[in-house]
Amino acid sequence: MDNFDLVVIGAGPGGYVAAIRAAQLGMKVACVEKEPLLGGTCLRVGCIPSKALLESSEKYHEAKTGLSIHGVKVKEVSLDLDAMMSRKRKVMTTLSKGVQSLLKKGKIARFEGTGEIVGSGRVMVHRVGESIEVGADRILIATGSRVAPLRGVELDGDRIGTSAEALSYSSVPQHLVVIGAGYIGLELGSVWCRLGARVTVLEYMDRILPGMDPEMADEALKIFRKQGLDFRLGSRVTEARARDDGCIVVCEGQDPIQADRVLLAVGRIPNTEGLGLASVGVTPDGRGRIPVNERFETSAAGIHAIGDVIEGPMLAHKAEEEGVACVEWMSTGYGHVSYDTIPGVCYTHPEIASVGRTEDDLEADGVSYRKGVFPFRGNGRARALDAMDGWVKVLAHAETDRVLGVHIIGPRAGDLIAEAVVAMELHASSEDIARAIHAHPTLSETLKEAALAVDGRALHG
Ligand code: FAD
Ligand code: NAD
Repeated sequence: MDNFDLVVIGAGPGGYVAAIRAAQLGMKVACVEKEPLLGGTCLRVGCIPSKALLESSEKYHEAKTGLSIHGVKVKEVSLDLDAMMSRKRKVMTTLSKGVQSLLKKGKIARFEGTGEIVGSGRVMVHRVGESIEVGADRILIATGSRVAPLRGVELDGDRIGTSAEALSYSSVPQHLVVIGAGYIGLELGSVWCRLGARVTVLEYMDRILPGMDPEMADEALKIFRKQGLDFRLGSRVTEARARDDGCIVVCEGQDPIQADRVLLAVGRIPNTEGLGLASVGVTPDGRGRIPVNERFETSAAGIHAIGDVIEGPMLAHKAEEEGVACVEWMSTGYGHVSYDTIPGVCYTHPEIASVGRTEDDLEADGVSYRKGVFPFRGNGRARALDAMDGWVKVLAHAETDRVLGVHIIGPRAGDLIAEAVVAMELHASSEDIARAIHAHPTLSETLKEAALAVDGRALHG
């Protein structure tokens, strides 16, 4: 039996990054992954394929409707969905091969198969026709998450499906019903809307993007409605089933809706089934997550967990940071994740990005704050891009001026938020951001102006 310092179960962004960092720290590492393609949900059926389709569909949409304003005339624009999908697959496989070579570079042993913990320091790797046992001083569970089911919604893996199916439809649906106006519903709803589908989004709450700044969610809703997405808020889906001639979706108290495809996107749940947790006395919490302490240690000695399988936002960068911190704790006795400054980005058009506290959070905690808002329409670069929808909002402590939250809806918001993350990580004040020189003409000037606006002195607004 091979013996390792660390066996990581799951090669998603949490697991493979933890394995690489552990190898850098001198550990003898193995990584067990059941899928042939490395990279996890993120690379196979999540972040990467969705972003590839978001980019491609935006280009198609822009070629159809957004170029004439620039004086570019295009005669006929048509969609080659097969080519779009094969580009998406190429992006995924290239990145996955990259992960493979990173593991090789770190001399990390790769075991293809399903990992099961069979006792302290023992992992059984099951694959077709054989099982092999691997020994480990420590085991790191990074098995990620899967789609949360919804009672009454019969997933058939085809017409009524999840994000995995919606990333690979073979044709543009006539009418796509999306259940859930969170990240997945909005990103994939946008993709298929741009490609020509009628899209109806059913959301249980009376708002979209729960958890994000409510003013920003309202602004996003207005913009998405203008783009053609139909939202029915306050709709509780009780049933969805496929029939010979399409699908029927039922919401409490409403007429049934007919569609040819249904995308279920009401959240995700941790992957712990079949992991053998009982063999080491680890019990998931009421939401199926593995409880850990600040060192990512479970209740069983030598068994750790990170990423989607534990508490916290289900985001790839959160999983990565936890992976690094977890193995640094093991090796150096210190590790850290800045949970207060984890950015969230929804890659719609425009993008929506957030870091830190919302106004709701601050009000609930009785924290007094000042707010500066600057619209993209006051920014020269946004005008040059013809991307003026949205704004930047900076929230700073009323007395100390420390930046407490930044919320951006607008062009490249996902890139712009990085500056806010660094500023908050360094405990910057809004004055610090306002006094830093931002190149002109760039979209980043909107953040500077919003920071100036905290003190009522925006220069272009
Ligand atoms: P995962 O990426 O889920 O990886 C877990 C791995 O473990 C998988 O490869 C799985 O096959 C393997 N595994 C599970 N059980 C076993 C076992 N017993 N033995 C061996 N292997 C096992 N997040 C972002 O930050 N940005 C985005 O833009 C974004 N877009 C997304 C789009 C979609 C459609 C979806 C579904 C998710 C998206 N996410 C995004 C979320 C992101 O994918 C997850 O938060 C992230 O992948 C979690 O990383 P992880 O390493 O914890 O788990
Ligand atoms: P989500 O939690 O983002 O949104 C789910 C939505 O479904 C919520 O608005 C919720 O109110 C709604 N809902 C719940 N039950 C419902 C019901 N019965 N009827 C109608 N609506 C209902 O979940 P998701 O969109 O499935 O995404 C899962 C996770 O994947 C996200 O939490 C996120 O962490 C991650 N993700 C991130 C990105 C990104 O970072 N850009 C993209 C996609 C996914």
